[in-house]
Amino acid sequence: MLKTEFVKARSLEEAFCAISDRADASFVAGGTDLFVQIKEGKRKPSRLVSVREVPELLGIDLQRGSVVIGSAVPLSDVASSAVVAGHAPLVADACLQIGSPQVRNRGTIGGNIGNASPAGDSITALIASGARIRVKSLAGEREILLEASFLGPGKTVLSPDELITAVVVPVIQDHTRVAFEKYALRGGMDIAIVNVAISLDMVDGLVTDARIALGAVAPTPIRAVEAERTIRGNRPSSSLIEEAARVAARECCPIDDVRGTASYRRHLVYVLTKRALAKVCQGNVGRVWGCAR
Ligand SMILES: Cc1cc2nc3c(=O)[nH]c(=O)nc-3n(C[C@H](O)[C@H](O)[C@H](O)COP(=O)(O)OP(=O)(O)OC[C@H]3O[C@@H](n4cnc5c(N)ncnc54)[C@H](O)[C@@H]3O)c2cc1C
Repeated sequence: MLKTEFVKARSLEEAFCAISDRADASFVAGGTDLFVQIKEGKRKPSRLVSVREVPELLGIDLQRGSVVIGSAVPLSDVASSAVVAGHAPLVADACLQIGSPQVRNRGTIGGNIGNASPAGDSITALIASGARIRVKSLAGEREILLEASFLGPGKTVLSPDELITAVVVPVIQDHTRVAFEKYALRGGMDIAIVNVAISLDMVDGLVTDARIALGAVAPTPIRAVEAERTIRGNRPSSSLIEEAARVAARECCPIDDVRGTASYRRHLVYVLTKRALAKVCQGNVGRVWGCAR
């Protein structure tokens, strides 16, 4: 039987000491992903270093034009934060659509990123929002663009002793419109078959910038760069939205798995991208459209 030592860190220093003197140690936050993987025999850490109660990881603040969310903040707190709702509404909406209230109370935003699932709901919203992550270890600190952090399912550019300390999300601008769409068999209770997050900058009826992030349709969450190019610099119309949604469906590369076939996922990308684009193009500036509940 696997014997795993559990260390509850009370500070960043304690966390880094506990992780650095054991080669197969792993950070854990809420454990909603990691404990399942341990139970299924996919991960066998001999030591778990819990960062869930490290005070430095628990704040939500406005800092120099960004919302800075501590990595150990539970998803439910991200979803209900007035700061996040007001300044990074796409992220609040996506977090509200993760799992059940129990999962959101336990699971953290840092864990959603650290787990590196291509279907992670907060991840697509964060990528569409242009988020970065702050990463720290005993060797130092760095900040990485979130969309450049993923190498494949369950794999990030982080080394095992590197901890995500915070997620840095640029404050939404007055001329930015955003929407998050997710399709899962049991609504928000389930992992997404596809999720789509969109952020459009609109000035005088023209799309001046577009960010479209797709989840569960490639080995990592991706930007639909061709679809973004289709819509950028143009005035939204139903034919432009139709064209951009078709381009997004063409440029993703889904696989068949237990949740759905590749062709079904491609169709969902078309439907959800079209729906999200229609909502942002018709909606009010600075508002989230596409809330499932
Ligand atoms: C019933 C159920 C439903 C779910 N539904 C959804 C859903 O709808 N959408 C969705 O996206 N996810 C869903 N999940 C997955 C999971 O709840 C989320 O991914 C959650 O955010 C994970 O956070 P955690 O704190 O529990 O991570 P943990 O399980 O503690 O950690 C996950 C991974 O991240 C690493 N990690 C944790 N914190 C850090 C950090 N600060 N720095 C670096 N690495 C770190 C850990 O080492 C581990 O490898 C569901 C899970 C369950 C069990």
